[in-house]
Amino acid sequence: MNRRDPWRINADLHCHSSVSDGTLEPEALVARAHARGVELFSLTDHDELGGQARAAEAAQALGMAYVPGVEISVTWAGETIHVVGLGVDPTDRSLLEGIARTRDGREERAREMADSLAAAGIPGTFEGALRYVGNPELISRTHFARHLVESGRCSDVGEVFQRYLTEGKPGFVPHRWAKLPQAVGWITAAGGTAVLAHPGRYRLSETALWALIEEFRESGGTAMEVVCGSHTRDQYGRFATLAREFGLRASRGSDFHDPVESRVELGSLPPLPDAVVPVWYDWPVAR
Ligand code: AMP
Ligand code: MN
Ligand code: MN
Ligand code: MN
Repeated sequence: MNRRDPWRINADLHCHSSVSDGTLEPEALVARAHARGVELFSLTDHDELGGQARAAEAAQALGMAYVPGVEISVTWAGETIHVVGLGVDPTDRSLLEGIARTRDGREERAREMADSLAAAGIPGTFEGALRYVGNPELISRTHFARHLVESGRCSDVGEVFQRYLTEGKPGFVPHRWAKLPQAVGWITAAGGTAVLAHPGRYRLSETALWALIEEFRESGGTAMEVVCGSHTRDQYGRFATLAREFGLRASRGSDFHDPVESRVELGSLPPLPDAVVPVWYDWPVAR
C-alpha cells in the first residue's frame, strides 16, 4: 500500500478558538483550515478541551484528518512555558482535572490585572476584557489586549503586550501555572504526545533552554515545535538541530488566533526540514 510522504502533509497542529483566546468558533476555524489546504489539524486551546467534540465533528464532515489537542500553561524556573498535547483523549479524567486546576485563578488574576491597570490610570478593563471572552473560565491577557486596542489605547495587540501586559509593565500580574512534569504527565497519561511549544519564544539562556528541554524529555515529552508561527526562518534551522540533538520529533503549527491579528495564516508555514522526524510520522491518521 502506498503511504504519503509525511514531510509533505500540510499539518497545522497548533491554533486557538473562542473556547480560549482565539476569535473563531471551533467549526469556523476548522472550515478555515480546510479551505487553506490543511490536511492534518489540531485545535489546541489554552488549558481547555471544551472545543474538541465540535472541532472533531466539523473536521470529519469535511474529510480532514483531526487529532484532539490542548496547550497547557506551565511555570518553569519563574517563566511561563507552554506544552502542547496532541492526540490526547479529550475525555480523560486526570487531564480534564489537571487543566481545570490550571484554569483556576485566571479570574482572580484578571481582577488583579484590572486593579493594577486602574492604578496606572486605565479603569474598567476587567469589564472591557470580559466582552471579548468566549469562555468565562478562560480570561486571558489576549482579551485585555483586544479591549485596549478597541478602546483606542493602543494600535494593535502586540503594542498592548509591550506597553502593559509583560513583566515589569503596569498590567502584568505574575501567575503560577502547572508544573512541567505534571502537564507532560497529564498529556501522556491521556494517550497523547507532549510537544514543547514555540521554544524560540522563551527568554532563557542557552543553558537554561537545554535544562528545560532535558527536564521536558525526562518527564516524558517527545517532540518540540520547529516550524511555528512565532519562529523566524533562522529559528526553524536552529530548533531542527536541537530537536535532532535531543532525539525529539518535530511539530508544525501556526498558533493562529484571529484572521486579522495573527501574522501567520492556518496551513501556510513552510514544510518541516528533512533533517527532523515529523511528530505525526507514525500516526495512523496521517497515512
Ligand atoms: P495568558 O495565558 O493569559 O498569559 O495569555 C497568553 C496569550 O497571550 C498567548 O497565548 C498569546 O496568545 C498572547 N500573547 C502573549 N504575548 C504576546 C505578544 N507579545 N503579542 C501578542 N500576543 C501575545
Ligand atoms: Mn493565545
Ligand atoms: Mn503558546
Ligand atoms: Mn498557542
